[in-house]
Amino acid sequence: MAPEIGALAPRADFPVLAANPGLHYLDSAATSQKPASVIRAIARYYETSNANPHRGAYKLAAAATEAYHEARGRIARFLGVTDADTLIFTRGTTEALNLIAAAWGRANVKRGDRIVVTRLEHHANFVPWQVLANETGAEFVIAELNADGTLDMDRLRSLVTPRTRVLAFGHVSNALGTVNPVHELVAVAHEVGALAVCDGAQSAPHLSVGIDSLGVDAYAFSGHKMLGPMGVGGLVMRRELLEAMPPYQMGGDMISYVGDATTTWNVLPHKFEAGTPNVEGPVGLAAACDYLTALGMEKVHQHEQALMRLASQRLAAIPGVTVLGPSPEARSGVVSFTLEGVHPHDLSQLLDADGVCVRAGHHCAQPLMRALNVHATTRASFYVYNGSADVEALVAGVESARRRMVG
Ligand code: PLP
Repeated sequence: MAPEIGALAPRADFPVLAANPGLHYLDSAATSQKPASVIRAIARYYETSNANPHRGAYKLAAAATEAYHEARGRIARFLGVTDADTLIFTRGTTEALNLIAAAWGRANVKRGDRIVVTRLEHHANFVPWQVLANETGAEFVIAELNADGTLDMDRLRSLVTPRTRVLAFGHVSNALGTVNPVHELVAVAHEVGALAVCDGAQSAPHLSVGIDSLGVDAYAFSGHKMLGPMGVGGLVMRRELLEAMPPYQMGGDMISYVGDATTTWNVLPHKFEAGTPNVEGPVGLAAACDYLTALGMEKVHQHEQALMRLASQRLAAIPGVTVLGPSPEARSGVVSFTLEGVHPHDLSQLLDADGVCVRAGHHCAQPLMRALNVHATTRASFYVYNGSADVEALVAGVESARRRMVG
């Protein structure tokens, strides 16, 4: 028997888990649970400091402004971003990627240019580029994978030609867990002067990313996948690019001066944060960053690796189970699998009856599912509050589903 792996973070810190003692929550790649400290930080903000930031001359408005900007600084520090004003708050990864494609893309991509994305992408890092290509007449090219679900880097290199304006790639695949070689991808993009855009939705929660040191031109992430609240995430982009590109949305706060005929833009980050901002989101996310810092991101990573390896090994030993994606060395804390004779949706419903929450479906990665020749997979994803008891419950549930459905 392998030694038991306890949760890295106490379940008691997470009110949802404390309220549901038998629950095995294995869907953190979709969204994470929230520690009480995050929920408390949000409540405290509303109880003590709520007003519309940047707008009032009174002390309470100054407190709201301070809470908002102090949170930006803490989140930037956690993510390894020195110039905090290049962290633009968005609703999440989806909005951040749409912002780049709409604002930078429309200003910089034209007919005959090329946009390269990878076969692994979540729809959020695929569709905005596909639409931009269709609108501008640029060529949209997909970099294919090796049989094990890693990027075929030789083919990718040959696709990134001097006409390429954008290379968009995920740091970590949500569907397979593949960890991509970011530094190599950045080098390929920069050799031809293309923009290196990194979807960090599945890396910021799990790795010590150090965005400055990745060398990417743009990095998008979602707070709700890293113990923070829903409705906040961000775009980190090189200052000179943000300063040169047009704004994404127009309205309050993003202007410097509105003339009758034309308008000038506010400085960063305000230029890209039109309208009343989401203050509670950054406040809660900053508390989430503190929580992760206290756990230690290296420990978080090692913990998830241990659970992913255990789950991969135990599931692969069940007849009819195929674990998809690369070997554990090239994978994050995600196990995507199929069970012969059982549809992933049926499997996830049967697992739910055992208190095991997993994701079933195409994982917003239909182009990848086509390449894998499957319609859907079942995906278990691990985080700080999981332990080997969750893996055992998953394995027992899959075995029992197989007995019932296959015989
Ligand atoms: N990119 C990846 C790799 C994801 O896993 C997700 C969410 O699952 C997204 C983008 C979209 O994130 P959000 O829905 O938070 O905007």
